[in-house]
Amino acid sequence: RTFGRTDAPGRLDAFGPLVGVSGADLEVPLVDGRSVRYANLDYAASAPALDAVLADQQRILPYYASVHRGAGYASAVSTALYEQSRRTVADFVGARDDDLTIFTRNTTDALNLLAGAVPAGSPVVCLDIEHHANLLPWQGLGATIVKASRSLTTTLDDLDRTLQRTGAGLLAITGASNVTGEVLPLARLADLAHRHGARLAVDGAQLVPHRRVDLAATGIDYLVFSGHKLYAPFGSGALIGRADWLESAPPYLAGGGAVRKVTVEHTDWADGVARHEGGTPNVLGAAAVAAACRAIAEIGDDHLRRHEWRLRTRLLSRLAGLREVRLLSIWDDCTDAVGVVGFTVDSYDAGLVAAYLSAEHGIGVRDGAFCAHPLAARLGLTGGALRVSFGVGSGSEDIDRLLSALQSLVEDGP
Ligand code: PLP
Repeated sequence: RTFGRTDAPGRLDAFGPLVGVSGADLEVPLVDGRSVRYANLDYAASAPALDAVLADQQRILPYYASVHRGAGYASAVSTALYEQSRRTVADFVGARDDDLTIFTRNTTDALNLLAGAVPAGSPVVCLDIEHHANLLPWQGLGATIVKASRSLTTTLDDLDRTLQRTGAGLLAITGASNVTGEVLPLARLADLAHRHGARLAVDGAQLVPHRRVDLAATGIDYLVFSGHKLYAPFGSGALIGRADWLESAPPYLAGGGAVRKVTVEHTDWADGVARHEGGTPNVLGAAAVAAACRAIAEIGDDHLRRHEWRLRTRLLSRLAGLREVRLLSIWDDCTDAVGVVGFTVDSYDAGLVAAYLSAEHGIGVRDGAFCAHPLAARLGLTGGALRVSFGVGSGSEDIDRLLSALQSLVEDGP
C-alpha cells in the first residue's frame, strides 16, 4: 500500500533534506573496513536535533541558571525563557487559553502524570495497538482495552459502543502508530468521545513531529509528546490540556516548587502547572522543545507533509515489490500515514537484517516489537519486525541506500 498519492513514474528525482540536523555528515565504520555516511532511518526512536535547535541552545547557555528561584540576572533570563518556551509549545499545538502546558521528561512521563489526574470513577478506554507508554498507565487503572479490527471504520464503531457501555471518562489513543505510521482521525475521535461525555487524550509521540496538531480545532482534550522525537535533545516532553482534572489531582512530584505554603502539619499545593513540576525544571530541555516547535512551524505543515510523502512513496513503491518483504499495517482502510514504515523480511530474523544494514551498509533502523507487544502479537511478529522512519533531515539517498541494501539481501543473501 502507498497511502494515497504516489509520485508519477519517472519523477523519482533525487532530493535532499529539508533542513540541517545533527549527525548529518557522520561517518561510520563498516565490517569491511570502509566507512560511509551514516544513514539514519530511525527517527521514530529519537530524531536527530535540528541545527536550529542546537544553535539556540548555544545562544542561551550563558544564561544557564536556576529557574523560578534565584534573584540574579541569569536566573531572571532563564525563568523568562522557561515560561516563554511554555507559551511557544502551547501555541504550536493550538492550545486553548485555559489549557495547562506542563513540561515533563517525555511522553511516558506525561501519560503517567495524566493517569494520576483521571478522577476516581472515570473509566478509561483505549486500543490494543498502543505503545506501552499509552497502555500500561491505563491498564493500571483497569481500562477497557478494545481490540482493533482490520477495518478502521469497524474499530471506531467498537470504540463507540465501548464508550457507551462503560460510561467512560477518557478515551486514550495514539495519534499515529509507532509500528506502521498509520494516522488516526483525531477530530472524529474527539467527537466520538465527547458525544459520550468522555475526553480524548492523544499520544502525539509519533504524530507531532510530522503533522500540525491543533487542540482547539480538533477538540483533543489532552496531548502528550516527547522532545527527543521532535528534533530536540535533552529529555523534555509535554502534557497540554484541560486544567480542571490536573488542578484537582495530587501533585505528580511532591517537592519544592509544587507548593504554596508548607507547615509541619500541612502542605498547601500550588495550582496550575507548578503543581506538577516539582523540583528544578529542565530549562534547556524546555527551550530545546520550544526551538524545535518554532523551526518546524517555520518549515510549514504543507512542506513537511510533502517531503515525507515523497520519502514514503519512494520507499513503498519499491519495498512492496521486493521478494520476501511484507509491509505491516493495522487497518485495510486507513488512508493516512507519517514517515514510519514497518515490515518483515520473510526468511530473516528482523534483528539479523538490522545488524546487516548497520554493519555492511551504515544504515540505522529499529527492529523488535517496538514496545507494542499486543500489536506485535496480533500482527504475528514472532521474529520481530523492522521499522524505517524518517523526517526533515532525510533525503532520497537514505531511502535509496536502504532499498539497494535490502535488494541485495533478498537476492544474494547476507
Ligand atoms: N508513544 C509512542 C507512540 C511512541 O512511539 C513512544 C516512543 O517510542 C512513546 C510513546 C514513548 O516515548 P518516550 O520514550 O519518549 O517516553
